[in-house]
Amino acid sequence: MKADPKVQRRLLDLAAIDTALAQLAHRRRSLPERAELEALARELSALEDERVRAQVAVDDLDRDIARLEKDVDQVRARKNKDEARLAAGTGPARELEALQHELVSLNRRQSDLEDAELELMEQRETAQSVLDGVEQRIAAAREKRAAVEQRRDDSLAEIARDEEFKRGARGPLAADLPDDLVTLYDRIRTDSGLGAALLTGGRCGGCRLELYGADLARIRKADPDDVVRCEECRRIMVRTNESGL
Ligand SMILES: [Zn+2]
Repeated sequence: MKADPKVQRRLLDLAAIDTALAQLAHRRRSLPERAELEALARELSALEDERVRAQVAVDDLDRDIARLEKDVDQVRARKNKDEARLAAGTGPARELEALQHELVSLNRRQSDLEDAELELMEQRETAQSVLDGVEQRIAAAREKRAAVEQRRDDSLAEIARDEEFKRGARGPLAADLPDDLVTLYDRIRTDSGLGAALLTGGRCGGCRLELYGADLARIRKADPDDVVRCEECRRIMVRTNESGL
């Protein structure tokens, strides 16, 4: 293939743009925010499980406390009834005496129930503070996630802007070059990530291999408008005054 040396040199501009585009694509794929967000998602999922367990503990205690309160209410009602009967003072003395005994026992029962309730309320307070703590950690993790998402979106927008800019420059540059040369360049680029490189100091800019002997002689003998390729990496080697020929 033949191409004017000036045209060949413009392949290096195209390669610089394509390298920048490849770097932008790599940056998009490997944004640190992706890993951060995955870690945060795992953390939030674990915290959510913890929150459910903490809520169950609070709910269980609420149910136990409600049951105790109902028991206390029953004891109080029974006491009120007994006290009313005692106050009325009617009935046989033995019955009144039995009522007094029952009141003593009811008072003891009420006191036991209230102690138990107090104990449960203390446990509930602890369980509630565990739940509050988990909810605070969830809120903090969500806040952090929102900040990381924002950072990721900012980076993605910046990458998209840079890509648009590079593509805007690439279009007219590629359109200006001969079709067959661009087709060859693009085919090599698709295969190896880089279509053309400067031959500099007798070394291929693509694979860094130094040319000598027959290879170097072949390049030296080539016409300036011959499109020469590296024997090693098959890339187009663009020759300039720095090529060491
Ligand atoms: Zn090479």
